[in-house]
Amino acid sequence: MKISKRAQQLSPSVTLAASSKAKKLKSEGKDVLNLTVGEPDFATPKNIQEAAIQAITDGRASYYTPSAGIPQLREAVVEMIRKVYGLDYEAKNVIITDGAKYSLYLLFQAMLDVGDEVIIPVPYWVSYGEQVKLAEGTPVFVSCKQENEFKVTVEQLEAARTKQTKAMILNSPSNPTGMIYTEAELTAIGNWAVEHDIMIISDDIYGQLVYNGNTFTPIATISEEIRKQTIIINGVSKSYAMTGWRIGYTIANEELIGAMNNIASHSTSNPTAVSQYAAVEALNGSQETVEEMRQAFEARLNTIYPKAAALPGFKLMKPQGAFYLFPNIRETLTLCGYDNVTDWVDDLLDEAYVALVTGEGFGSADHIRISYASDLAVLEQAIERIAAFIDKKIQANN
Ligand code: PMP
Ligand code: GLU
Repeated sequence: MKISKRAQQLSPSVTLAASSKAKKLKSEGKDVLNLTVGEPDFATPKNIQEAAIQAITDGRASYYTPSAGIPQLREAVVEMIRKVYGLDYEAKNVIITDGAKYSLYLLFQAMLDVGDEVIIPVPYWVSYGEQVKLAEGTPVFVSCKQENEFKVTVEQLEAARTKQTKAMILNSPSNPTGMIYTEAELTAIGNWAVEHDIMIISDDIYGQLVYNGNTFTPIATISEEIRKQTIIINGVSKSYAMTGWRIGYTIANEELIGAMNNIASHSTSNPTAVSQYAAVEALNGSQETVEEMRQAFEARLNTIYPKAAALPGFKLMKPQGAFYLFPNIRETLTLCGYDNVTDWVDDLLDEAYVALVTGEGFGSADHIRISYASDLAVLEQAIERIAAFIDKKIQANN
């Protein structure tokens, strides 16, 4: 049997591939420090776990749910958006999905026809382009400059715009760069999108993970016109340490939510019931643990950033949010006698047992991504190992 062209043209998720490789080595007894995947190391907070257990023992988790999600969870999302964003939506504007990743998947399936273009600023999160291609749309990649904190400008967007441009993706705080768009930048981008009737897909998944006095402004809050042009993507994975539960959501106009819901009803039926009950508690319950975890990430960033920045040849900006460092290591490669990041990352894993992700999956061959969603001792040890590895390579190269 021949595999479909659709599947053949797809590359696997580099983040998940790197994480699987690291986990496999670990299971073989190797002392691997895994800084690959963007996954909080914390256990899901107790109150959320208990809500899930309760839903199981009550028998509520045994059954299919409405495919757009249980009403309580759609209402909890509406309430959260009212409190945190100050925006009024109704439950009919919300669909609950199997992670934010499946929100994006459904969205592209529901909004794109063959040849419709989606502008994706580079560096980007690994799945955007592949998901657009799966919907037979065309990703249009726009390279952002490190000097501009890897943020896309209206001039760049305008240069990329064609008659086929249907949407653009905005991910602030960004995975992998950690940068946050300012209100002025969002206003300019939002007004441009309104003027040309281009939908803004606002991936807000790291919105609660901002550090050192930086603030996150959701683009949907800039003006009523921009809000109408915006589709909000979010989920509980990152802020509530719930990656394994697979709950995300989309907020958009009723027509689009309905189209996504039709596709969901024929593909997953509904997100796992027990996870939905857990997510209700995540959104409605005490937010104290969210703040505690945010503070822990902030402390890790503040400890680890100066050490990473001091590594030979590493060029990186201090992230403002999310939980990744994204250094340009072109100079390090030269010092170490390598010509590409992939070989360097492979050798770092094989020789020093530190697992990272290459920048290639994020659209940048000169970078690596380091997830700092691990505990401080692991992070510090990893930096020491990377320093020793670089030292060894520099000596061998001289
Ligand atoms: N968007 C971004 C930018 C991400 O980093 C992730 C992490 N996987 C997702 C969406 C999807 O998250 P999830 O499916 O776990 O909700
Ligand atoms: N978003 C996380 C990351 O970038 C999880 C892995 C994935 O879904 O790709 O590492």
